[in-house]
Amino acid sequence: MILHTRSPEQTEALGEALGAACRGGEVILVSGDLGAGKTRLAKGVGRGLGLSPEEITSPTFTLLAVHRGHLPFYHVDLYRIVTPDELAHLELFEEVEGPGVTFVEWPERGGDRVPEAGLHIRITEEGADGRALTLEAPAAGHDHLLEAAAAFAAA
Ligand code: ADP
Ligand code: MG
Repeated sequence: MILHTRSPEQTEALGEALGAACRGGEVILVSGDLGAGKTRLAKGVGRGLGLSPEEITSPTFTLLAVHRGHLPFYHVDLYRIVTPDELAHLELFEEVEGPGVTFVEWPERGGDRVPEAGLHIRITEEGADGRALTLEAPAAGHDHLLEAAAAFAAA
């Protein structure tokens, strides 16, 4: 599924729709260049989970930020990771099986130390304020997020 947003607010609103649809156990991997809008999307997911978007910033230096919304929100940013082995002794993904929502920026930098995507979103720029978001749900159990995205697109 490919969605198009025309402003940061719209990308955040898509994230909010996804966050509001989460039940716990979701793994959302988000790819895209610097400035694509991954963190903006994360702010929306946080909002959908009852958090304040101001609270959500890229955890570029800490790698993981844990927020307590309606569900735990694990926000990971692997931008600074050069080789996946750097993650060997970290417990970034310990909670993935739990009731929270995991959102990963720069997932490709973690190689196969990153859990499989439930939902993979790839963001590319379309002009200054336009973004194309390609959504795929390779693992089972994430159809509710695709449905939420489809409902957002139709609204
Ligand atoms: P990333 O986390 O991918 O590096 P950010 O979310 O931090 O990116 O930043 C995205 C930047 O792009 C912000 O400055 C935002 O205002 C801008 N932007 C412009 N148009 C959009 C859009 N449609 N969706 C998301 N961000 C957008
Ligand atoms: Mg970011």
